[in-house]
Amino acid sequence: MVKIKRSFPAPESLKEEAKKANGKYDKQDVILRLKEDFHNKCYICEMTELQDPNVEHLYPHKNGKYMERKFDWENLFWSCGHCNRIKNNSKYDEGILDCCKQDPEECLRFDLNDDSVIIKVADNNDLIQKRTAELIIEAFTLNNTGMRTYTSAQRWKLLQEEMNVLYKQLEKIHNNPDSRMALRTIRSLLRRESAFAAFKRSYVREHAAEYPQLQKYVKLDTSVSNI
Ligand SMILES: [Zn+2]
Repeated sequence: MVKIKRSFPAPESLKEEAKKANGKYDKQDVILRLKEDFHNKCYICEMTELQDPNVEHLYPHKNGKYMERKFDWENLFWSCGHCNRIKNNSKYDEGILDCCKQDPEECLRFDLNDDSVIIKVADNNDLIQKRTAELIIEAFTLNNTGMRTYTSAQRWKLLQEEMNVLYKQLEKIHNNPDSRMALRTIRSLLRRESAFAAFKRSYVREHAAEYPQLQKYVKLDTSVSNI
Protein backbone atom coordinates (compact mmCIF):
# COMPACT_ATOMS: atom_id res chain seq x y z
CA MET A 1 0.00 0.00 0.00
CA VAL A 2 1.43 3.33 -1.06
CA LYS A 3 0.32 6.93 -0.91
CA ILE A 4 -2.20 7.86 -3.58
CA LYS A 5 -2.94 11.39 -4.75
CA ARG A 6 -6.70 11.60 -5.09
CA SER A 7 -7.85 14.17 -7.64
CA PHE A 8 -10.46 16.80 -6.92
CA PRO A 9 -13.19 17.90 -7.34
CA ALA A 10 -15.21 14.69 -7.08
CA PRO A 11 -16.61 13.15 -10.30
CA GLU A 12 -19.83 14.90 -11.30
CA SER A 13 -22.13 11.87 -11.25
CA LEU A 14 -21.78 11.19 -7.53
CA LYS A 15 -23.80 14.20 -6.44
CA GLU A 16 -26.66 13.42 -8.83
CA GLU A 17 -26.69 9.68 -8.14
CA ALA A 18 -26.82 10.29 -4.39
CA LYS A 19 -30.23 11.93 -4.83
CA LYS A 20 -31.73 8.88 -6.57
CA ALA A 21 -33.41 5.96 -4.84
CA ASN A 22 -31.17 3.46 -6.63
CA GLY A 23 -28.27 5.69 -7.50
CA LYS A 24 -24.97 4.26 -8.69
CA TYR A 25 -21.56 5.10 -7.32
CA ASP A 26 -19.79 3.43 -10.23
CA LYS A 27 -20.73 5.48 -13.26
CA GLN A 28 -18.11 5.87 -15.96
CA ASP A 29 -16.66 9.14 -14.68
CA VAL A 30 -15.99 7.55 -11.26
CA ILE A 31 -14.43 4.45 -12.81
CA LEU A 32 -12.13 6.39 -15.12
CA ARG A 33 -10.99 8.73 -12.37
CA LEU A 34 -10.33 5.97 -9.84
CA LYS A 35 -8.47 3.94 -12.44
CA GLU A 36 -6.22 6.90 -13.18
CA ASP A 37 -5.73 8.16 -9.62
CA PHE A 38 -4.86 4.66 -8.41
CA HIS A 39 -2.72 3.85 -11.48
CA ASN A 40 -5.04 0.91 -12.21
CA LYS A 41 -3.50 -0.84 -9.24
CA CYS A 42 -5.26 -2.48 -6.30
CA TYR A 43 -4.56 -0.26 -3.31
CA ILE A 44 -4.48 -3.28 -0.98
CA CYS A 45 -2.38 -5.98 -2.72
CA GLU A 46 -0.74 -3.61 -5.26
CA MET A 47 -1.32 -5.90 -8.20
CA THR A 48 -1.37 -3.90 -11.45
CA GLU A 49 -3.33 -4.14 -14.71
CA LEU A 50 -6.44 -5.33 -12.91
CA GLN A 51 -8.76 -7.61 -14.86
CA ASP A 52 -11.55 -7.40 -12.29
CA PRO A 53 -11.38 -3.91 -10.74
CA ASN A 54 -13.88 -3.07 -8.00
CA VAL A 55 -14.97 0.22 -6.50
CA GLU A 56 -14.18 -0.41 -2.86
CA HIS A 57 -15.67 1.55 0.05
CA LEU A 58 -13.07 2.24 2.72
CA TYR A 59 -15.89 2.47 5.24
CA PRO A 60 -18.65 0.04 4.18
CA HIS A 61 -22.06 1.47 3.33
CA LYS A 62 -23.78 -1.80 4.40
CA ASN A 63 -26.24 -2.00 1.51
CA GLY A 64 -27.06 1.67 1.76
CA LYS A 65 -27.49 1.78 5.53
CA TYR A 66 -24.82 4.46 5.54
CA MET A 67 -25.86 6.42 2.48
CA GLU A 68 -23.39 9.22 3.15
CA ARG A 69 -20.56 6.72 2.73
CA LYS A 70 -21.91 5.25 -0.48
CA PHE A 71 -21.39 8.34 -2.67
CA ASP A 72 -18.57 10.01 -0.78
CA TRP A 73 -15.73 10.43 -3.26
CA GLU A 74 -13.15 10.23 -0.49
CA ASN A 75 -14.55 6.87 0.59
CA LEU A 76 -14.16 5.26 -2.85
CA PHE A 77 -11.06 3.21 -3.61
CA TRP A 78 -9.80 1.03 -6.48
CA SER A 79 -9.19 -2.59 -5.61
CA CYS A 80 -9.13 -6.04 -7.15
CA GLY A 81 -12.11 -8.35 -6.52
CA HIS A 82 -9.99 -10.66 -4.38
CA CYS A 83 -9.06 -7.91 -1.90
CA ASN A 84 -12.50 -6.33 -1.94
CA ARG A 85 -14.06 -9.64 -0.92
CA ILE A 86 -11.48 -10.22 1.82
CA LYS A 87 -12.03 -6.73 3.22
CA ASN A 88 -15.79 -7.34 3.22
CA ASN A 89 -15.44 -8.88 6.69
CA SER A 90 -16.89 -7.15 9.72
CA LYS A 91 -13.47 -7.08 11.39
CA TYR A 92 -12.50 -4.37 8.89
CA ASP A 93 -15.68 -2.29 9.36
CA GLU A 94 -14.01 0.23 11.64
CA GLY A 95 -11.66 1.15 8.85
CA ILE A 96 -8.12 0.76 7.66
CA LEU A 97 -5.50 3.35 6.75
CA ASP A 98 -6.65 5.96 4.25
CA CYS A 99 -3.76 5.91 1.80
CA CYS A 100 -5.03 9.11 0.16
CA LYS A 101 -4.62 11.02 3.39
CA GLN A 102 -1.67 9.34 5.03
CA ASP A 103 1.43 7.73 3.60
CA PRO A 104 1.18 4.06 4.66
CA GLU A 105 4.97 3.79 4.40
CA GLU A 106 5.18 6.09 7.39
CA CYS A 107 3.78 3.48 9.75
CA LEU A 108 3.98 0.13 7.94
CA ARG A 109 7.05 -1.85 6.99
CA PHE A 110 6.60 -4.29 4.14
CA ASP A 111 8.73 -7.38 4.11
CA LEU A 112 8.67 -11.01 3.03
CA ASN A 113 10.42 -14.23 3.83
CA ASP A 114 10.36 -17.55 1.97
CA ASP A 115 6.79 -18.35 2.98
CA SER A 116 4.83 -15.20 3.51
CA VAL A 117 4.60 -11.45 3.65
CA ILE A 118 5.44 -9.72 6.90
CA ILE A 119 3.89 -6.34 7.65
CA LYS A 120 5.21 -4.58 10.74
CA VAL A 121 3.37 -1.67 12.30
CA ALA A 122 5.01 1.35 13.92
CA ASP A 123 2.52 1.50 16.79
CA ASN A 124 1.23 -1.79 18.17
CA ASN A 125 -1.62 -0.03 19.96
CA ASP A 126 -2.91 1.55 16.78
CA LEU A 127 -5.84 -0.59 15.64
CA ILE A 128 -6.06 1.06 12.22
CA GLN A 129 -2.44 0.18 11.51
CA LYS A 130 -2.93 -3.36 12.79
CA ARG A 131 -6.07 -3.96 10.74
CA THR A 132 -4.34 -2.65 7.61
CA ALA A 133 -1.38 -4.96 8.17
CA GLU A 134 -3.69 -7.94 8.73
CA LEU A 135 -5.65 -7.19 5.57
CA ILE A 136 -2.53 -6.95 3.41
CA ILE A 137 -1.19 -10.20 4.83
CA GLU A 138 -4.53 -11.90 4.13
CA ALA A 139 -4.45 -10.68 0.52
CA PHE A 140 -1.35 -12.84 -0.01
CA THR A 141 -2.09 -15.77 2.26
CA LEU A 142 -5.80 -16.33 2.87
CA ASN A 143 -6.79 -19.79 1.68
CA ASN A 144 -10.17 -20.48 3.23
CA THR A 145 -11.79 -21.27 -0.13
CA GLY A 146 -10.48 -23.07 -3.20
CA MET A 147 -10.61 -19.95 -5.36
CA ARG A 148 -9.00 -17.81 -2.68
CA THR A 149 -6.16 -20.29 -2.29
CA TYR A 150 -5.50 -19.79 -5.98
CA THR A 151 -5.85 -15.99 -6.08
CA SER A 152 -3.75 -15.44 -2.94
CA ALA A 153 -1.02 -17.72 -4.27
CA GLN A 154 -1.10 -15.88 -7.59
CA ARG A 155 -0.38 -12.56 -5.83
CA TRP A 156 2.32 -14.14 -3.70
CA LYS A 157 4.03 -15.49 -6.84
CA LEU A 158 3.84 -12.15 -8.65
CA LEU A 159 5.25 -10.35 -5.62
CA GLN A 160 8.19 -12.74 -5.43
CA GLU A 161 8.87 -12.33 -9.15
CA GLU A 162 8.81 -8.55 -8.86
CA MET A 163 11.16 -8.64 -5.86
CA ASN A 164 13.55 -10.85 -7.82
CA VAL A 165 13.62 -8.28 -10.61
CA LEU A 166 14.54 -5.64 -8.03
CA TYR A 167 17.21 -7.83 -6.35
CA LYS A 168 18.86 -8.44 -9.74
CA GLN A 169 19.08 -4.74 -10.47
CA LEU A 170 20.37 -4.02 -6.97
CA GLU A 171 23.10 -6.57 -7.52
CA LYS A 172 24.14 -4.71 -10.66
CA ILE A 173 24.35 -1.48 -8.68
CA HIS A 174 26.27 -3.29 -5.98
CA ASN A 175 28.87 -4.43 -8.53
CA ASN A 176 28.89 -1.20 -10.47
CA PRO A 177 27.53 1.78 -8.51
CA ASP A 178 27.69 3.97 -11.62
CA SER A 179 25.60 1.77 -13.88
CA ARG A 180 23.17 4.31 -15.32
CA MET A 181 21.04 1.66 -16.93
CA ALA A 182 20.53 -0.17 -13.63
CA LEU A 183 19.84 3.10 -11.86
CA ARG A 184 17.19 4.01 -14.40
CA THR A 185 15.52 0.62 -14.08
CA ILE A 186 15.56 0.77 -10.29
CA ARG A 187 14.12 4.24 -10.28
CA SER A 188 11.22 2.97 -12.35
CA LEU A 189 10.77 -0.12 -10.14
CA LEU A 190 10.50 2.15 -7.10
CA ARG A 191 7.81 4.42 -8.46
CA ARG A 192 4.58 4.29 -6.48
CA GLU A 193 2.76 3.42 -9.71
CA SER A 194 4.63 0.14 -10.08
CA ALA A 195 3.43 -3.27 -8.89
CA PHE A 196 4.09 -4.07 -5.22
CA ALA A 197 5.91 -0.75 -4.81
CA ALA A 198 5.57 -0.66 -1.01
CA PHE A 199 7.57 -3.90 -0.66
CA LYS A 200 10.32 -2.76 -3.01
CA ARG A 201 10.55 0.68 -1.43
CA SER A 202 10.65 -0.80 2.06
CA TYR A 203 13.50 -3.09 1.06
CA VAL A 204 15.58 -0.25 -0.35
CA ARG A 205 14.88 1.88 2.72
CA GLU A 206 15.91 -0.99 5.00
CA HIS A 207 19.19 -1.29 3.11
CA ALA A 208 20.00 2.42 3.14
CA ALA A 209 23.61 1.83 4.17
CA GLU A 210 24.22 -0.31 1.07
CA TYR A 211 22.28 1.90 -1.30
CA PRO A 212 22.55 5.52 -0.16
CA GLN A 213 22.20 6.73 -3.74
CA LEU A 214 18.70 5.19 -3.99
CA GLN A 215 17.19 6.79 -0.91
CA LYS A 216 15.99 9.80 -2.87
CA TYR A 217 13.60 7.48 -4.75
CA VAL A 218 11.90 6.15 -1.63
CA LYS A 219 11.08 9.31 0.27
CA LEU A 220 7.85 9.47 2.22
CA ASP A 221 4.99 11.68 1.08
CA THR A 222 3.69 13.54 4.08
CA SER A 223 1.61 16.03 2.16
CA VAL A 224 -2.14 15.77 2.65
CA SER A 225 -3.73 15.59 -0.77
CA ASN A 226 -7.36 16.30 0.06
CA ILE A 227 -7.60 20.03 -0.25
ZN1 LIG B 1 -5.86 -6.62 -4.43
